[in-house]
Amino acid sequence: MKNTELQTFSSIKNALETASRVCIVPHENPDGDAIGSALGLGQVLKNQGKEVAVVPVNEYPEFLKWFSADVPVLIYEKDKKAAKAALFDADVLVCVDFNEEKRAGHLQKMIHKYDKTKILIDHHPYPTQFCDHTVSETQYSSTAELVVDVLAQTEMSSYIDTKAAEALYTGILTDTGGFSHNTSKNTFRVVSELLEYGIDTDKIQSAVFHNFSADRMKLLGYCLNQKMVVFPEYRAAYISLTKADLEQFNFKPGDTEGFVNYPLSINNIVFSALFIEKEEYVKASFRSIGNFPANAFSHDNFNGGGHLNAAGGESELNFEETIQKFTQLLPQYKHQLLDTEI
Ligand code: 5GP
Ligand code: MN
Repeated sequence: MKNTELQTFSSIKNALETASRVCIVPHENPDGDAIGSALGLGQVLKNQGKEVAVVPVNEYPEFLKWFSADVPVLIYEKDKKAAKAALFDADVLVCVDFNEEKRAGHLQKMIHKYDKTKILIDHHPYPTQFCDHTVSETQYSSTAELVVDVLAQTEMSSYIDTKAAEALYTGILTDTGGFSHNTSKNTFRVVSELLEYGIDTDKIQSAVFHNFSADRMKLLGYCLNQKMVVFPEYRAAYISLTKADLEQFNFKPGDTEGFVNYPLSINNIVFSALFIEKEEYVKASFRSIGNFPANAFSHDNFNGGGHLNAAGGESELNFEETIQKFTQLLPQYKHQLLDTEI
């Protein structure tokens, strides 16, 4: 690990060893890596005899609800009292898969107020210092891959079991789009280590990628057929979904996961956006291939950030204005988009 000093690992080891209760917080709208790293680490700590709770601020996708890890997941929006108690009662708070407090949504203030030991394990660029001990390694494919190496550094690997390995493998699988991007030699080394625990990768593949509702598949068809706008002259495309679109297809959290990637399968398209109308804002997702920086685009225009090729943000403009803003921005990025090397 490039950025983390050995001292940080011994501090983390010490903090976790002496803790009886640990709370693990993933980012808002948790994805496979956020939930997988939280449950994987949680299971390891549970196996060590600790009381563990995973506290996401909001609901996570249906296709991530098959894990065998037996760590309670207390969703703040569903049970504020229980989630808050689990957070403040913990001796150590571990934040996973995010790089700034505001990515925890309505848990931001509580994380800030929490005055015992805070640990961050994350792989996003531009980390902020909001924890006592930070492991931030951007060359990792996923936080789950990083958790496996942190467990080795803190001499906790012996507590990994099949349940933990399954969750950690899923984090890597989802954040790399099924091992299709951001992988390294280390990714496959870690994966092969996780396979030693006898996880059923065929079962995980089906559970994650072949587990959609018919409504979700129809929504995808509708997006590609009616809601995708392609700008070959800018090598860009976007898909937009209103609340009414989502209602029509009985939207459930996670249903639009991965939609933003589809336009990138079009020949010569290097930048893709997905806009989803929420109650109070418009959620934006950006994906790119090659060296076009989706994170800088999101940071500079949509209050967001993320990785070079996968970023997200938010817009306070109304839905139509948000789309208009995006399309009007494309000419400014024309040279960069046309020069993108893939
Ligand atoms: P997604 O498009 O799947 O929501 O997010 C893609 C990536 O961008 C993830 O790595 C996620 O953590 C990051 N991301 C998503 N939304 C935001 C946001 O509002 N702010 C920041 N800083 N990063 C985001
Ligand atoms: Mn991640």
